[in-house]
Amino acid sequence: MSQVLVLVDHRDGVVTKGTLELLTKARELGEAAAVFCGAGVEAARAALAEYGAATVYVAADPVVDQHPVGPTVAVLADLVAQHGPAAVLVVASAEGREVAGRLAVRLGSGVITDAVGLSADLVCDQQVFGGSTLVKSAVSRGTPVIAVRPNSWPAEPSAVTPTEIPVDVAPAAADTLATVVDRVREAGGDRPDLADATIVVSGGRGLGGPDGFTLIEGLADRLGAAVGASRAATDAGWYPHVNQVGQTGRTVSPQLYLAVGISGAIQHRAGMQTSKTIVAVNKDREAPIFELADFGIVGDLFDVVPQLVAELDKRSG
Ligand code: FAD
Repeated sequence: MSQVLVLVDHRDGVVTKGTLELLTKARELGEAAAVFCGAGVEAARAALAEYGAATVYVAADPVVDQHPVGPTVAVLADLVAQHGPAAVLVVASAEGREVAGRLAVRLGSGVITDAVGLSADLVCDQQVFGGSTLVKSAVSRGTPVIAVRPNSWPAEPSAVTPTEIPVDVAPAAADTLATVVDRVREAGGDRPDLADATIVVSGGRGLGGPDGFTLIEGLADRLGAAVGASRAATDAGWYPHVNQVGQTGRTVSPQLYLAVGISGAIQHRAGMQTSKTIVAVNKDREAPIFELADFGIVGDLFDVVPQLVAELDKRSG
């Protein structure tokens, strides 16, 4: 059975949910082999074993953390050359997409980004044109490199005892041209990361100002959700740009997406329309977001959100 390489997306060894989803799929497609680059594998071992990584390739050389993308691509390219896997799967984060593109160029093979489905014969459901069209795509040459959006399917455990194999990192000079000089963790408190979150609560211009986000954060915290924002809100400086959802922001695909005071412009929809269930709160019953929403509440968000919060508090006892 061919291996399917999964590049482990992690923060200091804490494996993201998107990676566990990829391992789940890799087990269906072949033998799941995780590729862990950088420091912190100690913190990752348990999760990788629980989600069925039969092999864990570990590239612990500090060069991987010192230089973004390039050394990781070099590691993956070497592993593909040595083991001829059926496919390489990466999480479709900004960095994951860059790794995927560069790796495909280096391998002379095809790349698919923003996959939201993947069949046994490696045909992907892929979103194109800002997410307005869903197409079936397959790589026709070389080892398919596929970047998959988090939350595209559930992560299911299937424990194994992995074989851990250290790998050498031999980056070319061009792989180390960019150097990481500092790492700053965005202030986000205990909230989940937008890309990984099962629930996202987003606010837009309807909030009327930065203070309106206190309401959004209160609702998000009761739901264990991440906070998103429309570009109108981030451009106005009401919330950080890193939280922007949409064509020029982050792409999310949670189980539940709450759009509060957001009109539903095409560029916003591009970043959230594959959410499994969409709930919109808007005082304008003609707002385009209602065309997309599974559930809509026509009303003033300053009335509706406090009632939602009160109801959640009541239910949590
Ligand atoms: P608005 O469109 O102004 O909508 C506010 C909504 O709030 C209205 O529907 C209103 O009825 C409702 N409302 C007002 N008060 C209340 C209240 N008290 N209670 C309930 N509802 C209320 N946008 C993004 O979001 N993400 C992107 O990545 C993005 N990229 C873009 C890229 C390009 C190239 C361009 C041109 C635009 C992009 N935009 C993006 C901007 C996009 O076109 C919209 O302008 C933006 O999404 C609007 O944000 P909004 O829905 O918060 O504001």
